Amino acid sequence: MKAEIIAVGTELLLGQIVDTNSAYMAQQLTTVGLDLHFKATVGDNLERLKNTLQTALRRSDFILLTGGLGPTLDDLTREAVAEVTGKKLIFHPYLNDQIENFFKRLGRSMSANNRKQAYIPEGAIPIENPVGTAPGFIVQISDGAVIAVPGVPHEMRYFMDQSVLPYLRRKMGIQEVIVSRVLKLFGLGESMVDERIKDLITAGENPTIGLLAHTQIGEIHIRLTAKAGQTDRAQELNARLENKIRERLEEYIFGTDDETYEGVTGSLLRQSHLRLAVAETAFGTSVIQTLKALDGSEQFLSLGLTLSNAEAAQKLLNLPGRIFQNQGLLGLEATKALAEGVRQLAGANLALGITGRAAKEKSEDHLIYMALARPQATEGFEQRWPHAMRYVENRMTKMALAQVRRFILESRNQEG
Ligand code: ATP
Ligand code: MG
Repeated sequence: MKAEIIAVGTELLLGQIVDTNSAYMAQQLTTVGLDLHFKATVGDNLERLKNTLQTALRRSDFILLTGGLGPTLDDLTREAVAEVTGKKLIFHPYLNDQIENFFKRLGRSMSANNRKQAYIPEGAIPIENPVGTAPGFIVQISDGAVIAVPGVPHEMRYFMDQSVLPYLRRKMGIQEVIVSRVLKLFGLGESMVDERIKDLITAGENPTIGLLAHTQIGEIHIRLTAKAGQTDRAQELNARLENKIRERLEEYIFGTDDETYEGVTGSLLRQSHLRLAVAETAFGTSVIQTLKALDGSEQFLSLGLTLSNAEAAQKLLNLPGRIFQNQGLLGLEATKALAEGVRQLAGANLALGITGRAAKEKSEDHLIYMALARPQATEGFEQRWPHAMRYVENRMTKMALAQVRRFILESRNQEG
Protein backbone atom coordinates (compact mmCIF):
# COMPACT_ATOMS: atom_id res chain seq x y z
CA MET A 1 0.00 0.00 0.00
CA LYS A 2 1.18 3.49 -0.86
CA ALA A 3 1.28 6.41 1.54
CA GLU A 4 1.70 10.12 1.05
CA ILE A 5 2.33 12.91 3.54
CA ILE A 6 1.03 16.44 3.07
CA ALA A 7 2.46 19.13 5.32
CA VAL A 8 0.19 22.16 5.43
CA GLY A 9 1.41 25.65 6.28
CA THR A 10 2.70 28.70 4.46
CA GLU A 11 5.56 29.05 6.99
CA LEU A 12 6.78 25.62 5.86
CA LEU A 13 6.78 26.72 2.21
CA LEU A 14 8.66 29.88 3.02
CA GLY A 15 11.25 28.00 5.04
CA GLN A 16 10.42 29.94 8.19
CA ILE A 17 10.01 26.66 10.01
CA VAL A 18 11.53 23.33 9.12
CA ASP A 19 9.15 20.50 8.40
CA THR A 20 10.22 18.08 11.10
CA ASN A 21 6.74 16.56 11.30
CA SER A 22 7.00 14.86 7.91
CA ALA A 23 10.32 13.33 8.88
CA TYR A 24 8.85 11.83 12.04
CA MET A 25 5.77 10.59 10.24
CA ALA A 26 7.87 9.06 7.47
CA GLN A 27 10.03 7.18 9.98
CA GLN A 28 6.96 5.84 11.74
CA LEU A 29 5.21 4.74 8.55
CA THR A 30 7.97 2.25 7.87
CA THR A 31 6.97 0.39 11.04
CA VAL A 32 3.46 -0.37 9.77
CA GLY A 33 4.49 -1.68 6.38
CA LEU A 34 3.37 1.30 4.30
CA ASP A 35 5.52 2.54 1.44
CA LEU A 36 5.85 6.28 1.40
CA HIS A 37 5.88 7.39 -2.22
CA PHE A 38 5.34 11.13 -1.96
CA LYS A 39 5.73 14.03 0.43
CA ALA A 40 4.07 17.31 -0.43
CA THR A 41 4.15 20.73 1.18
CA VAL A 42 1.38 23.21 0.53
CA GLY A 43 0.52 26.66 1.87
CA ASP A 44 -2.61 27.75 3.71
CA ASN A 45 -4.70 28.11 0.58
CA LEU A 46 -7.95 26.20 0.03
CA GLU A 47 -7.70 25.71 -3.75
CA ARG A 48 -4.09 24.55 -3.70
CA LEU A 49 -4.71 22.30 -0.71
CA LYS A 50 -7.68 20.71 -2.51
CA ASN A 51 -5.57 20.23 -5.65
CA THR A 52 -2.81 18.61 -3.66
CA LEU A 53 -5.30 16.29 -1.98
CA GLN A 54 -6.91 15.33 -5.28
CA THR A 55 -3.53 14.43 -6.75
CA ALA A 56 -2.68 12.45 -3.64
CA LEU A 57 -5.97 10.54 -3.76
CA ARG A 58 -5.25 9.50 -7.33
CA ARG A 59 -1.86 8.01 -6.58
CA SER A 60 -1.82 6.97 -2.91
CA ASP A 61 -3.92 4.83 -0.58
CA PHE A 62 -3.19 6.48 2.74
CA ILE A 63 -2.80 10.24 2.94
CA LEU A 64 -1.54 11.82 6.13
CA LEU A 65 -1.98 15.54 6.59
CA THR A 66 -0.27 17.57 9.30
CA GLY A 67 -1.22 21.15 10.19
CA GLY A 68 -4.06 23.49 9.39
CA LEU A 69 -6.42 22.16 12.03
CA GLY A 70 -6.28 25.30 14.16
CA PRO A 71 -9.11 27.70 14.90
CA THR A 72 -8.12 30.53 12.59
CA LEU A 73 -9.32 31.41 9.08
CA ASP A 74 -6.14 30.18 7.45
CA ASP A 75 -6.53 26.70 8.98
CA LEU A 76 -8.23 24.94 6.07
CA THR A 77 -7.45 21.24 6.32
CA ARG A 78 -10.92 20.34 7.60
CA GLU A 79 -12.70 22.15 4.77
CA ALA A 80 -10.37 20.81 2.08
CA VAL A 81 -10.72 17.17 3.15
CA ALA A 82 -14.50 17.49 3.42
CA GLU A 83 -14.84 19.03 -0.03
CA VAL A 84 -12.48 16.66 -1.80
CA THR A 85 -14.02 13.54 -0.24
CA GLY A 86 -17.54 14.88 -0.81
CA LYS A 87 -18.57 14.98 2.86
CA LYS A 88 -20.28 17.63 4.94
CA LEU A 89 -18.59 19.01 8.06
CA ILE A 90 -20.55 17.88 11.11
CA PHE A 91 -20.46 19.50 14.55
CA HIS A 92 -19.67 17.11 17.42
CA PRO A 93 -20.84 18.51 20.76
CA TYR A 94 -18.58 16.18 22.77
CA LEU A 95 -15.50 17.34 20.85
CA ASN A 96 -16.60 20.89 21.60
CA ASP A 97 -16.86 19.98 25.32
CA GLN A 98 -13.36 18.58 25.23
CA ILE A 99 -11.95 21.73 23.71
CA GLU A 100 -13.82 23.81 26.29
CA ASN A 101 -12.47 21.63 29.12
CA PHE A 102 -8.95 21.98 27.82
CA PHE A 103 -9.20 25.76 28.11
CA LYS A 104 -10.88 25.53 31.51
CA ARG A 105 -8.02 23.40 32.83
CA LEU A 106 -5.59 26.12 31.78
CA GLY A 107 -7.80 28.72 33.45
CA ARG A 108 -8.70 30.39 30.16
CA SER A 109 -11.97 30.75 28.35
CA MET A 110 -12.51 29.31 24.91
CA SER A 111 -12.86 31.80 22.10
CA ALA A 112 -15.74 31.48 19.65
CA ASN A 113 -13.59 30.43 16.72
CA ASN A 114 -12.33 27.37 18.59
CA ARG A 115 -15.82 25.98 18.03
CA LYS A 116 -14.77 25.44 14.43
CA GLN A 117 -12.42 22.71 15.63
CA ALA A 118 -15.33 20.53 16.76
CA TYR A 119 -16.42 20.07 13.13
CA ILE A 120 -15.14 17.01 11.27
CA PRO A 121 -16.17 15.41 7.97
CA GLU A 122 -19.33 13.31 8.14
CA GLY A 123 -18.61 9.66 8.96
CA ALA A 124 -14.98 10.32 9.86
CA ILE A 125 -13.42 8.68 12.91
CA PRO A 126 -12.59 11.49 15.34
CA ILE A 127 -9.23 11.48 17.12
CA GLU A 128 -9.51 13.21 20.45
CA ASN A 129 -6.82 15.60 21.57
CA PRO A 130 -5.99 15.53 25.29
CA VAL A 131 -2.74 17.45 24.71
CA GLY A 132 -4.09 20.45 22.81
CA THR A 133 -7.24 21.79 21.22
CA ALA A 134 -7.60 20.53 17.66
CA PRO A 135 -9.11 17.07 17.31
CA GLY A 136 -7.89 15.07 14.34
CA PHE A 137 -9.85 12.66 12.17
CA ILE A 138 -9.69 9.72 9.82
CA VAL A 139 -11.86 9.63 6.69
CA GLN A 140 -11.96 6.08 5.39
CA ILE A 141 -12.11 5.72 1.62
CA SER A 142 -12.20 2.36 -0.19
CA ASP A 143 -9.04 0.55 0.94
CA GLY A 144 -7.29 3.59 2.33
CA ALA A 145 -7.88 6.71 4.36
CA VAL A 146 -7.24 10.43 4.67
CA ILE A 147 -5.84 11.14 8.12
CA ALA A 148 -5.49 14.64 9.57
CA VAL A 149 -3.36 15.44 12.62
CA PRO A 150 -2.37 18.83 14.12
CA GLY A 151 0.77 20.69 13.14
CA VAL A 152 2.11 21.36 16.63
CA PRO A 153 4.94 18.81 16.78
CA HIS A 154 4.27 17.31 20.21
CA GLU A 155 0.57 17.00 19.40
CA MET A 156 1.36 15.39 16.07
CA ARG A 157 3.61 12.82 17.78
CA TYR A 158 0.96 12.07 20.38
CA PHE A 159 -1.65 11.52 17.66
CA MET A 160 0.66 9.29 15.66
CA ASP A 161 1.72 7.15 18.61
CA GLN A 162 -1.66 6.88 20.33
CA SER A 163 -4.11 6.69 17.44
CA VAL A 164 -2.82 6.81 13.89
CA LEU A 165 -0.17 4.08 14.04
CA PRO A 166 -2.40 1.64 15.97
CA TYR A 167 -5.14 2.34 13.39
CA LEU A 168 -2.75 1.73 10.47
CA ARG A 169 -1.37 -1.39 12.12
CA ARG A 170 -4.91 -2.79 12.37
CA LYS A 171 -5.70 -1.79 8.79
CA MET A 172 -2.53 -3.39 7.50
CA GLY A 173 -3.18 -6.54 9.52
CA ILE A 174 0.01 -6.18 11.51
CA GLN A 175 -0.23 -8.22 14.68
CA GLU A 176 3.21 -7.34 15.94
CA VAL A 177 3.86 -4.75 18.57
CA ILE A 178 6.98 -2.65 18.57
CA VAL A 179 8.61 -1.74 21.87
CA SER A 180 11.56 0.59 22.31
CA ARG A 181 13.95 0.97 25.19
CA VAL A 182 16.48 3.77 25.41
CA LEU A 183 19.70 3.54 27.41
CA LYS A 184 21.29 6.90 28.13
CA LEU A 185 25.04 7.31 28.47
CA PHE A 186 27.27 10.13 29.53
CA GLY A 187 31.04 10.40 29.66
CA LEU A 188 31.92 8.35 26.59
CA GLY A 189 32.08 9.51 22.96
CA GLU A 190 29.94 8.13 20.16
CA SER A 191 32.78 6.35 18.41
CA MET A 192 33.83 4.63 21.65
CA VAL A 193 30.29 3.45 22.29
CA ASP A 194 30.10 2.22 18.71
CA GLU A 195 33.42 0.42 19.10
CA ARG A 196 32.29 -1.46 22.18
CA ILE A 197 28.98 -2.72 20.87
CA LYS A 198 29.67 -2.82 17.13
CA ASP A 199 29.13 -6.58 16.96
CA LEU A 200 25.75 -6.27 18.70
CA ILE A 201 24.70 -3.45 16.36
CA THR A 202 25.65 -5.45 13.28
CA ALA A 203 24.00 -8.63 14.53
CA GLY A 204 20.90 -6.79 15.71
CA GLU A 205 17.82 -7.81 13.76
CA ASN A 206 15.30 -8.13 16.53
CA PRO A 207 15.84 -6.05 18.60
CA THR A 208 17.63 -3.57 16.39
CA ILE A 209 20.08 -1.11 17.91
CA GLY A 210 20.32 2.56 16.98
CA LEU A 211 22.85 5.08 18.30
CA LEU A 212 21.76 8.65 18.76
CA ALA A 213 24.23 11.39 19.55
CA HIS A 214 23.63 15.12 19.93
CA THR A 215 20.06 14.89 21.19
CA GLN A 216 21.35 16.04 24.58
CA ILE A 217 24.75 17.66 25.07
CA GLY A 218 27.41 15.07 25.80
CA GLU A 219 24.97 12.17 25.89
CA ILE A 220 24.75 9.11 23.70
CA HIS A 221 21.45 7.28 23.53
CA ILE A 222 21.24 3.62 22.57
CA ARG A 223 17.78 2.72 21.31
CA LEU A 224 16.71 -0.92 21.31
CA THR A 225 13.62 -1.73 19.27
CA ALA A 226 12.01 -5.14 19.49
CA LYS A 227 9.09 -6.63 17.57
CA ALA A 228 6.96 -9.43 18.94
CA GLY A 229 3.42 -10.76 19.08
CA GLN A 230 2.97 -9.37 22.57
CA THR A 231 4.31 -6.42 24.53
CA ASP A 232 5.90 -8.44 27.34
CA ARG A 233 7.68 -10.68 24.82
CA ALA A 234 9.12 -7.61 23.08
CA GLN A 235 10.17 -6.18 26.44
CA GLU A 236 11.88 -9.45 27.27
CA LEU A 237 13.85 -9.35 24.01
CA ASN A 238 14.95 -5.80 24.80
CA ALA A 239 15.87 -6.71 28.37
CA ARG A 240 18.11 -9.55 27.23
CA LEU A 241 20.03 -7.27 24.87
CA GLU A 242 20.11 -4.50 27.49
CA ASN A 243 21.91 -6.87 29.87
CA LYS A 244 24.57 -7.60 27.26
CA ILE A 245 25.09 -3.89 26.66
CA ARG A 246 25.23 -3.19 30.38
CA GLU A 247 27.99 -5.79 30.81
CA ARG A 248 30.13 -3.62 28.54
CA LEU A 249 29.01 -0.09 29.31
CA GLU A 250 27.32 -0.13 32.72
CA GLU A 251 29.49 2.61 34.26
CA TYR A 252 28.41 5.10 31.59
CA ILE A 253 24.69 4.35 31.65
CA PHE A 254 23.02 6.92 33.89
CA GLY A 255 19.39 6.34 33.03
CA THR A 256 16.78 4.94 30.67
CA ASP A 257 13.81 6.09 28.56
CA ASP A 258 12.46 9.43 29.83
CA GLU A 259 15.04 9.94 32.57
CA THR A 260 17.30 12.97 32.32
CA TYR A 261 20.82 13.45 33.62
CA GLU A 262 19.66 16.30 35.85
CA GLY A 263 16.69 14.34 37.19
CA VAL A 264 18.78 11.26 37.96
CA THR A 265 21.43 13.35 39.75
CA GLY A 266 18.66 15.10 41.70
CA SER A 267 17.25 11.86 43.02
CA LEU A 268 20.73 10.60 43.93
CA LEU A 269 21.26 13.81 45.89
CA ARG A 270 17.94 13.51 47.68
CA GLN A 271 18.61 9.90 48.64
CA SER A 272 22.16 10.67 49.79
CA HIS A 273 21.08 13.21 52.44
CA LEU A 274 24.20 15.17 51.53
CA ARG A 275 24.26 18.93 51.60
CA LEU A 276 25.87 20.67 48.68
CA ALA A 277 27.16 24.20 48.16
CA VAL A 278 28.39 25.86 44.97
CA ALA A 279 30.63 28.83 44.23
CA GLU A 280 30.43 29.69 40.56
CA THR A 281 32.26 32.40 38.65
CA ALA A 282 32.68 30.92 35.20
CA PHE A 283 30.23 31.93 32.47
CA GLY A 284 27.09 32.59 34.40
CA THR A 285 25.08 30.81 37.02
CA SER A 286 24.06 27.71 35.13
CA VAL A 287 25.24 25.12 37.66
CA ILE A 288 23.44 26.83 40.52
CA GLN A 289 20.30 27.38 38.43
CA THR A 290 20.23 23.78 37.30
CA LEU A 291 20.62 22.44 40.83
CA LYS A 292 18.10 24.87 42.25
CA ALA A 293 15.50 23.87 39.66
CA LEU A 294 15.69 20.19 40.65
CA ASP A 295 12.90 18.62 42.68
CA GLY A 296 13.63 18.80 46.39
CA SER A 297 16.61 21.13 45.95
CA GLU A 298 15.81 22.73 49.31
CA GLN A 299 16.86 19.42 50.89
CA PHE A 300 20.30 19.21 49.31
CA LEU A 301 21.37 22.62 48.05
CA SER A 302 22.59 24.68 51.01
CA LEU A 303 24.06 27.61 49.17
CA GLY A 304 24.76 28.84 45.67
CA LEU A 305 27.20 31.69 45.46
CA THR A 306 27.83 33.62 42.26
CA LEU A 307 31.06 35.56 42.35
CA SER A 308 32.59 37.94 39.90
CA ASN A 309 35.02 39.78 42.09
CA ALA A 310 38.07 38.35 43.87
CA GLU A 311 37.98 40.82 46.71
CA ALA A 312 34.41 39.92 47.62
CA ALA A 313 35.26 36.21 47.41
CA GLN A 314 38.23 36.73 49.67
CA LYS A 315 36.18 38.57 52.30
CA LEU A 316 33.09 36.42 52.19
CA LEU A 317 34.91 33.10 52.28
CA ASN A 318 37.68 34.30 54.53
CA LEU A 319 40.50 33.36 52.17
CA PRO A 320 44.07 34.66 52.05
CA GLY A 321 44.56 37.33 49.39
CA ARG A 322 47.59 35.69 47.78
CA ILE A 323 45.35 33.01 46.24
CA PHE A 324 43.82 35.55 43.87
CA GLN A 325 46.94 37.66 43.32
CA ASN A 326 48.03 36.26 39.95
CA GLN A 327 44.90 35.28 38.06
CA GLY A 328 42.02 36.66 40.11
CA LEU A 329 39.05 34.33 40.04
CA LEU A 330 40.79 31.82 37.80
CA GLY A 331 43.17 28.91 38.13
CA LEU A 332 43.18 25.62 39.96
CA GLU A 333 44.34 26.90 43.33
CA ALA A 334 41.72 29.66 43.46
CA THR A 335 38.98 27.24 42.39
CA LYS A 336 39.86 24.72 45.07
CA ALA A 337 39.96 27.51 47.66
CA LEU A 338 36.49 28.69 46.58
CA ALA A 339 35.09 25.17 46.83
CA GLU A 340 36.50 24.60 50.30
CA GLY A 341 35.56 28.12 51.39
CA VAL A 342 31.91 27.82 50.35
CA ARG A 343 31.72 24.37 51.91
CA GLN A 344 32.81 25.84 55.24
CA LEU A 345 30.54 28.86 54.93
CA ALA A 346 27.47 26.75 54.17
CA GLY A 347 28.33 23.96 56.61
CA ALA A 348 27.85 21.54 53.71
CA ASN A 349 29.31 18.09 53.12
CA LEU A 350 30.22 18.76 49.53
CA ALA A 351 30.98 21.84 47.51
CA LEU A 352 31.70 22.66 43.91
CA GLY A 353 33.97 25.51 42.87
CA ILE A 354 33.86 26.58 39.24
CA THR A 355 35.87 29.29 37.57
CA GLY A 356 36.59 29.88 33.93
CA ARG A 357 36.87 32.17 30.95
CA ALA A 358 34.99 32.11 27.68
CA ALA A 359 37.13 32.27 24.55
CA LYS A 360 36.80 35.61 22.80
CA GLU A 361 38.99 34.97 19.80
CA LYS A 362 39.42 32.03 17.48
CA SER A 363 42.92 31.36 18.75
CA GLU A 364 41.72 31.05 22.35
CA ASP A 365 40.17 28.10 24.13
CA HIS A 366 37.24 28.17 26.51
CA LEU A 367 38.79 27.47 29.87
CA ILE A 368 37.21 25.93 32.95
CA TYR A 369 38.52 25.00 36.36
CA MET A 370 36.38 22.79 38.51
CA ALA A 371 36.93 21.55 42.05
CA LEU A 372 34.98 19.32 44.40
CA ALA A 373 35.56 19.85 48.13
CA ARG A 374 34.77 16.88 50.34
CA PRO A 375 35.31 16.44 54.09
CA GLN A 376 38.72 14.79 53.61
CA ALA A 377 40.10 16.44 50.50
CA THR A 378 39.57 18.88 47.67
CA GLU A 379 40.36 17.88 44.14
CA GLY A 380 40.14 19.80 40.94
CA PHE A 381 41.00 19.84 37.26
CA GLU A 382 41.33 22.05 34.25
CA GLN A 383 39.20 21.61 31.15
CA ARG A 384 39.60 23.33 27.77
CA TRP A 385 37.24 23.43 24.84
CA PRO A 386 38.09 24.90 21.43
CA HIS A 387 36.63 28.27 20.48
CA ALA A 388 34.29 26.65 17.95
CA MET A 389 32.75 24.30 20.51
CA ARG A 390 29.13 25.22 21.17
CA TYR A 391 27.02 24.95 24.30
CA VAL A 392 30.04 25.11 26.59
CA GLU A 393 27.97 26.35 29.51
CA ASN A 394 25.72 23.36 29.15
CA ARG A 395 28.70 21.01 28.95
CA MET A 396 30.23 22.62 32.00
CA THR A 397 27.01 22.18 33.97
CA LYS A 398 26.79 18.54 33.09
CA MET A 399 30.41 18.06 34.02
CA ALA A 400 29.73 19.64 37.41
CA LEU A 401 26.75 17.36 38.01
CA ALA A 402 28.94 14.44 36.97
CA GLN A 403 31.43 15.23 39.78
CA VAL A 404 28.67 15.11 42.33
CA ARG A 405 27.12 12.01 40.86
CA ARG A 406 30.43 10.17 40.83
CA PHE A 407 31.12 11.07 44.43
CA ILE A 408 27.75 9.73 45.56
CA LEU A 409 28.09 6.51 43.59
CA GLU A 410 31.63 5.91 44.87
CA SER A 411 30.61 6.50 48.49
CA ARG A 412 27.76 4.07 48.00
CA ASN A 413 30.08 1.43 46.60
CA GLN A 414 32.43 1.83 49.53
CA GLU A 415 29.58 1.41 52.01
CA GLY A 416 28.01 -1.49 50.10
P1 ATP B 1 -3.13 24.72 16.03
O1 ATP B 1 -4.36 24.16 16.60
O2 ATP B 1 -2.09 24.96 17.08
O3 ATP B 1 -3.34 25.94 15.16
P2 ATP B 1 -2.65 23.39 13.56
O4 ATP B 1 -3.02 21.97 13.29
O5 ATP B 1 -3.45 24.44 12.92
O6 ATP B 1 -2.56 23.55 15.11
P3 ATP B 1 -0.52 24.80 12.44
O7 ATP B 1 -1.24 26.06 12.76
O8 ATP B 1 -0.36 24.44 11.02
O9 ATP B 1 -1.16 23.57 13.16
O10 ATP B 1 0.89 24.79 13.13
C1 ATP B 1 1.04 25.09 14.49
C2 ATP B 1 2.53 25.22 14.78
O11 ATP B 1 3.13 23.94 14.73
C3 ATP B 1 3.29 26.03 13.77
O12 ATP B 1 3.41 27.37 14.14
C4 ATP B 1 4.64 25.40 13.75
O13 ATP B 1 5.49 25.98 14.74
C5 ATP B 1 4.38 23.99 14.09
N1 ATP B 1 4.33 23.17 12.88
C6 ATP B 1 3.31 23.07 12.01
N2 ATP B 1 3.58 22.23 11.03
C7 ATP B 1 4.82 21.74 11.27
C8 ATP B 1 5.66 20.82 10.59
N3 ATP B 1 5.28 20.17 9.48
N4 ATP B 1 6.88 20.56 11.12
C9 ATP B 1 7.27 21.19 12.26
N5 ATP B 1 6.52 22.07 12.93
C10 ATP B 1 5.31 22.36 12.47
MG1 MG C 1 -2.90 26.82 13.21
